[in-house]
Amino acid sequence: MSVLLRVRDLAVAYGHIEAVKGLTFHLNTGEITALVGANGAGKSTTLLALSGLLKPARGKIEFDGEDITALPAHQIVKRGVVQVAEGRAILTTLTVAENLVLGAYTRTDKAEIAASLDEVYALFPRLKDRADQFAGNLSGGEQQMLAIGRALMAKPKLLLLDEPSMGLAPIMVQEIFRTLVEINRRGLTILLVEQNVRQALKIARHGYVIETGEIVLADSGENLLANPKVEEAYLGG
Ligand code: ATP
Repeated sequence: MSVLLRVRDLAVAYGHIEAVKGLTFHLNTGEITALVGANGAGKSTTLLALSGLLKPARGKIEFDGEDITALPAHQIVKRGVVQVAEGRAILTTLTVAENLVLGAYTRTDKAEIAASLDEVYALFPRLKDRADQFAGNLSGGEQQMLAIGRALMAKPKLLLLDEPSMGLAPIMVQEIFRTLVEINRRGLTILLVEQNVRQALKIARHGYVIETGEIVLADSGENLLANPKVEEAYLGG
């Protein structure tokens, strides 16, 4: 099993407040890994550091054998680390197709970009049906699909997701999680940040539980789901 991302002693601060206090974890190539925890635990902050949008106070981030800790965000995207934004951040006055093509901004090969677009439409037929509609007219779940599709257009090696289930109806949550499993089955490594602990651990091979900026548990998704501490704190006892 090869390691795609290795994080050592990552600390991130907002001014004097240390939100992430020395995380050490890794992601295996080809797996879904979940980072779960309560509101304010430091999950989003961790993802922002991996994406290069926040600079760590200390620690090291290695991707595909390369130290990316000090790289600017666009260089990190170029290497294949692509984040689906929390709150989705799609461009509502552009069409679905235009939003998707924007996701390929780091790429130049038109034929390959067109092939990626076909793959995204195969994964999300609803997006194909609505290709020419304004993204702002999509439902919440469809907007989440669009955000994921747009990230896939960058041809990531690692997909980072921040709360993809947030604000969605249960049936739509199921559909999004099913799609993540399918995307992973096609070979993509995924880091899934979620407050929906049960659903996330169900589809994750490995998981980390984060509390107030520190990893308190690390195990397989299956073992974490069966862990009484996880059950009590996150699964409603
Ligand atoms: P959520 O699910 O609410 O996003 P989270 O686990 O992702 O929670 P973070 O958003 O990473 O948590 O926040 C970690 C800590 O850092 C919290 O105490 C939060 O209040 C603080 N924090 C987050 N963003 C900022 C900011 N821009 N300035 C100051 N403090 C911040």
